[in-house]
Amino acid sequence: MKNSSLTASDLATRAPFHGQLLIDGAWVEAVDGSKLERRSPAHDQLVAVYAQAGVADTEKAIAAARKAFDHGPWPRMKGADRARVLRKVADLILERKHAIAEMETLENGKPLAQSLAEIEGSADLWQYAATLARNLHGDSYNTLGESTLGVVLRDPIGVVSVITPWNFPFLIVSQKLPFALAAGCTAVVKPAEVTSGSTVMLGQILIDAGVPPGAVNILVGRGSVVGDVMVTHEDVDMLSFTGSTAVGKAAVAKSAATLKKVSMELGGKNPQIVFADCDWDAAVDAAVYGIYFNAGQCCNSGSRILVQETIAKKFVAEVIERSKHVKVGDPLVAGVQVGAITTEKQMETILSHINSAQAQGATVALGGSRIAGTGMYIEPTVVTGVTREMAIAREEVFGPVLAVLTFNTVDDAIDLANSTLYGLSAAVWSQDFSTCMTAARRIKAGTVWINTFLEGHAELPFGGYHESGIGRELGRFATEDYTETKTLHMHLGPRTDWYLPR
Ligand code: NAD
Repeated sequence: MKNSSLTASDLATRAPFHGQLLIDGAWVEAVDGSKLERRSPAHDQLVAVYAQAGVADTEKAIAAARKAFDHGPWPRMKGADRARVLRKVADLILERKHAIAEMETLENGKPLAQSLAEIEGSADLWQYAATLARNLHGDSYNTLGESTLGVVLRDPIGVVSVITPWNFPFLIVSQKLPFALAAGCTAVVKPAEVTSGSTVMLGQILIDAGVPPGAVNILVGRGSVVGDVMVTHEDVDMLSFTGSTAVGKAAVAKSAATLKKVSMELGGKNPQIVFADCDWDAAVDAAVYGIYFNAGQCCNSGSRILVQETIAKKFVAEVIERSKHVKVGDPLVAGVQVGAITTEKQMETILSHINSAQAQGATVALGGSRIAGTGMYIEPTVVTGVTREMAIAREEVFGPVLAVLTFNTVDDAIDLANSTLYGLSAAVWSQDFSTCMTAARRIKAGTVWINTFLEGHAELPFGGYHESGIGRELGRFATEDYTETKTLHMHLGPRTDWYLPR
């Protein structure tokens, strides 16, 4: 497979990607013939045209997943056979990684090298899930007396609705789907409408790898239409959702009518706590990387720097200096570190957060504006003089906007870290073991990095406290989330009669 050599000037003549809906093993147009177009946020060129699903298509997809679960081979296959298919998916992802990465960059706006790393990391998740497919097991109790044997089974939960956002489209579907499949579930998948291409490409990989018809169905379409049916339909057993806290909360509320199991990965306002005794260069670098990676459009972005008062002035000055050298621009150009903002709506949201921070008394010490010209780019932005009550200290911006707050003691730092409604991740920077561990143990977040930031491994669970979500993805229990637990309570030998005691 060739490396991508695509440039912006090729886009005017490049044929847009054509995507259909994957329903019951076949690529089809929408029942009503509806289409959805995507323009590149970095170049404003048409890059993809999709069949756009509506309610009828969604109902067909759910029916196919239901039939595949109730009567199809996938839930009944040996774990070893499911593992073989998942490994094949991983191999095919790696074979096609350049084409998938190119699609991701064109739709999302992130630099091509970062897309490529995302696709490779995703293949690793499919490989890891394959190991879990062979390891999923229940439990047994041989300690319940002579006449009793207890066996606890793990049963695939059924049909899973998988709904994903636009910031890491391929990675996030790969945090969910292989684990649901490893457990023996079937699925209906809906990527965010602005970044559907890589998930549609995954659909062809699933077919080529031998996933049976109906086991995975893929719908391109609007959240308010397709997503709504996927959240409310009685034939769906579980909702696995990644997206904003607001949409996630509404989805949980709607799903409650059919009492579905939910797994929710939502927003964050993640603090990096920088103590005076930190490894200086590493902490400065992490502050910059943590907020500008993926243009700050990460649930895990380090969007709050909490810096100890004694070093605050010097530390912030260095962060600002390095921020000035971050390369923002065309994501197809090698060496660019920050690409385009993915949607016009997100651009407006970011700018309005910057404006309201200023209105509330904070200082925009660097950047703060949209960069003029074609494509949706924004300047790396540092906001200082932030206090914990300000919206910029509490609300997710989802852009390259760093809010700087200061503290004096370890207790202050922890208190500040825990002062939002979120609890997804945090980092602690100190060379003192006690400081690191005290902070790490008391911070309410699903992941705490110590002297590093934004690293992830398939083995390590990921998810949030409070309004950052419900449940955990990845790790060795990831497949268990997609199961029901069934107890077999077995009686051996004659049973004492209740009605006529012997
Ligand atoms: P979003 O909530 O707007 O959309 C997420 C998905 O939900 C999309 O596929 C969308 O079409 C769908 N959707 C929208 N309305 C719906 C409805 N009424 N019913 C069902 N589905 C609906 O989020 P986004 O803007 O795509 O992504 C950004 C958000 O995702 C940020 O808040 C970010 O923090 C969060 N996120 C969280 C994680 C995590 O793992 N915690 C990872 C990535 C992104």
